[in-house]
Amino acid sequence: MNYAHVFHAGNFADVFKHALLARILVYLNRKDAPYRVIDTHAGEGAYDLAREEADRTGEWREGIGRLAALDRTSDAGQLLAPYLDIVGACDAEGRPQIYPGSPAIAQKLARRSDRLVFCEKHPEAFAALKARFARDRRVKTLDLDGWTALGAFTPPPERRGLALVDPPYEARDEFARLAKAFAAAHAKWSTGVYALWYPAKDRRETDDLWRSVRASGARSALRLELAVAPTEEGGGLTRTGLVVVNPPFVLEAEAHVLLPELARLLERSPGAGAHLIEAFEV
Ligand code: SAM
Repeated sequence: MNYAHVFHAGNFADVFKHALLARILVYLNRKDAPYRVIDTHAGEGAYDLAREEADRTGEWREGIGRLAALDRTSDAGQLLAPYLDIVGACDAEGRPQIYPGSPAIAQKLARRSDRLVFCEKHPEAFAALKARFARDRRVKTLDLDGWTALGAFTPPPERRGLALVDPPYEARDEFARLAKAFAAAHAKWSTGVYALWYPAKDRRETDDLWRSVRASGARSALRLELAVAPTEEGGGLTRTGLVVVNPPFVLEAEAHVLLPELARLLERSPGAGAHLIEAFEV
């Protein structure tokens, strides 16, 4: 396990994923009934972007750093408010004091009666995660394989909630593993919301994932992608995606507002940004 998220914290893919995560949780908060968030690959929970590792890649500069140019009063600005309020104030370079990972975002948006399960396998990342959430009694941090956790914790006792599956894609078979683990979890908990993150480097892989979600028997799903530059063979990550199964019914309309604005703010050169929104409902 070589992957360390601190190198990528706050990059364009994080902005995309975390903005959508916040929209899903805001929606879950509309009903009083408690829910559970299961974050299978949680990372450290939050990141100091002044750390040497984050500074070395500087990926946040083309991610959260670009959001300084957002018009907070626009429709997209208002949809991004729950996420940006958690990110907090930024310095003159557009760098927040601490960049929240998915666990910190879930912790901030969850209510007293909601429960949160964060799994992380990397020993150092887990130590940081455990320390960060030790005092929050709603949170369980587990040094457990995320794929095992997805099977073990579904369905949650609350029957409502979100499973965020955000693996590092270090292994060649991670797309296939994701599809298989999702199908197994969905067979046990068909009403949960699932957010499946992926790097969109190879169209065949991402199309296969979408097809397998359809084949799993899911009743509705959204496929959202954001590109900040054209995909180049062997190049770095420039396109990212999230499949949301059982999406909040408002999410597709929100994506039509959010994604064009994120593409505009995060594109690497004028006109290079793009987005994709596909949905099915049976
Ligand atoms: N979800 C986090 C966020 O949005 O802030 C980022 C997660 S990062 C993309 C993937 C994480 O998965 C890394 O911290 C890595 O150490 C961890 N990881 C890798 N293999 C794992 C496994 N089998 N089970 C749980 N965590 C794993």
